[in-house]
Amino acid sequence: MASQNYYKANLRDVQFLLFEQFKLDELLGKEPYANWGKDEVIAVLEEAYGWVQKHYGPINRSGDDEGCRLENGQVRVPKGFKEAWKALFEAGWRTLAVDEKYGGQAGPFTLAMMVDEFMCGSNTSFNMYPALTQGAAEVILTFGTEDEIKTYVPNMFNGKWAGTMCLTEPQAGSDVGSCTTQAVKRPDGQYNIKGTKIFISGGDQDMTENIIHMVLARTPDAPPGTKGLSLFIVPKVRPDGKPNDVTVAGIEHKMGIRASSTAQLVFGDNDNCIGELIGETENKGMSQMFHLMNYARIGVGIQGLSIASSAYLNALDYARDRKQGSSIKQWKDATAPRVPIIEHPDVRRMLLDMKARVEGLRALTIKLTMHLDHVNALEKTGGDKAQIEYHQGQVDLLVPLTKAYGSDQAFSICATAIQVYGGAGYLKDWPVEQYCRDAKIFSIYEGTNHIQAMDLVGRKLMQRGGANVQAFGKDVAAFVAANKDHATLKDAIAVLGQAMEALTATGGKFMQWFGGGKMEMVPTVANRFLEMMSETTVGWLLLEQAVIAEAALAKLGADHPDRAFYEGKRYAAQYFAYNVLPGVAAKAQLIGREDRTMLDIPAAAFAP
Ligand SMILES: Cc1cc2nc3c(=O)[nH]c(=O)nc-3n(C[C@H](O)[C@H](O)[C@H](O)COP(=O)(O)OP(=O)(O)OC[C@H]3O[C@@H](n4cnc5c(N)ncnc54)[C@H](O)[C@@H]3O)c2cc1C
Repeated sequence: MASQNYYKANLRDVQFLLFEQFKLDELLGKEPYANWGKDEVIAVLEEAYGWVQKHYGPINRSGDDEGCRLENGQVRVPKGFKEAWKALFEAGWRTLAVDEKYGGQAGPFTLAMMVDEFMCGSNTSFNMYPALTQGAAEVILTFGTEDEIKTYVPNMFNGKWAGTMCLTEPQAGSDVGSCTTQAVKRPDGQYNIKGTKIFISGGDQDMTENIIHMVLARTPDAPPGTKGLSLFIVPKVRPDGKPNDVTVAGIEHKMGIRASSTAQLVFGDNDNCIGELIGETENKGMSQMFHLMNYARIGVGIQGLSIASSAYLNALDYARDRKQGSSIKQWKDATAPRVPIIEHPDVRRMLLDMKARVEGLRALTIKLTMHLDHVNALEKTGGDKAQIEYHQGQVDLLVPLTKAYGSDQAFSICATAIQVYGGAGYLKDWPVEQYCRDAKIFSIYEGTNHIQAMDLVGRKLMQRGGANVQAFGKDVAAFVAANKDHATLKDAIAVLGQAMEALTATGGKFMQWFGGGKMEMVPTVANRFLEMMSETTVGWLLLEQAVIAEAALAKLGADHPDRAFYEGKRYAAQYFAYNVLPGVAAKAQLIGREDRTMLDIPAAAFAP
């Protein structure tokens, strides 16, 4: 059953980010993380990494090969998944950041997300089942009535039951407001649910006694569009133990995440599907779902980071081992010794490109989750309102970046990893082809990446009258000003300053378009703007790492084993500054041209 486990994580980098760059320890040892210290965090990370190598990694490839099956209306997961589910909940990994009241360990969200990096990276398909379960439980916990919380949440946190998120319908994908699933109130206050949902991850499986579906539906007199959607708890088995009228019409056969069941669910085929409204007010479904989606979008960013990181580390090992060709310095000598491919400049370019991007994505993700931990700590200790607004504002801005840039980068990093392997990378003998297939979905679900880009430019830039984006710009500018004379990094930091200026100018261009009747220009370049802002953020955070690394290097002896790590930080930041960041200003120029070709081309002209 088990297959070779190729999963690799970079624990050293995680620790560097948590403690040297983002100072997680300043939040520890006091409320709300009073039970947590640096040692505990490190111990959990090490244990989690070891744990996934044993329980998740060995069923990643075999799960991909076997896939899910639908037998007599019941989905069967691949071999080993039931055992992994049991072990996961026995070990308590899913409740690291959950309140103690619900059996959790009340740890920082950032720690839970880094553990999630190991979980997603070692088995993306498997981890979707518990991650969605947790998301669904959190929605009930946040918006449900006391009764609903009591009935559902404990069994979802302890893994007895699973959960799903049911938005998509055949005619309602990105356009969620077109959802037509009906919910009609019954005399007992519950609702009769009728409709079809497609593409539901974990929509059915045979690991848990029950599955609690979060279903977006519309009551008969609800307003049109997203404003008329309500969210319902629709269990596969009702609380009284009777089966609900939820049938699996089919499962999808997919390019990647093949061991994650993606089901078509029919609710109320026999007019006997009963659901409960979450909370007490109808038509709040979209905002409730958004709460879940914000976390789910961070989760997708982590999925991207996790796979990309393992793809990089595997490609690196392969490049150190595989011998081919001679050194460029001896190109005229046919008898020169064959060298490992890591000696070739183009392979080094690919590896450094992957390293910089992966470590940059991790920094972007932790920057975001640390803002969330600050919000949590400030809220629970009666902290300063302006500080809460600042941190929450940065969370709101960084979510679309983490989801969309993280997922696009993940796919391209995995493709680069295949390139490093050469032909071997294209084969199932190595892990990178599966990584690449698994990674493609990240740019599509939880709102396609264009939906993320429109969220950024259409909503997030203007939030709080633009105060969030101004605070972001101020943070970057403060870093540039503080380090503009840095002995080794000043040239790279100047490039960051130019990127930030180009980004700000492009933000101004959007304002002109919004105000000057050129709205249709916005979606033509929204993705490009999201990329510019993500690259600026990643460039900033990598350079911040390099500044820290330079200071550390100055104190280390010539033979200290940590030197290579810190030197790697300097090279990654400089590579990104000189090879990626100048593209931000170039993209700003492209946007400034106001190219309309994609708007003007007649539909018939796309094909002769
Ligand atoms: C493996 C898998 C798992 C999934 N899991 C779940 C799940 O658990 N729960 C769930 O509810 N759904 C799930 N989905 C569905 C997923 O969220 C949708 O596929 C996604 O939202 C896109 O919708 P769509 O496929 O209908 O594409 P469409 O909405 O038809 O989009 C097609 C293309 O058109 C673009 N587009 C669409 N509308 C616009 C617009 N207004 N402006 C500009 N461009 C636009 C899109 O960006 C995209 O490029 C899953 C899908 C897959 C494949």
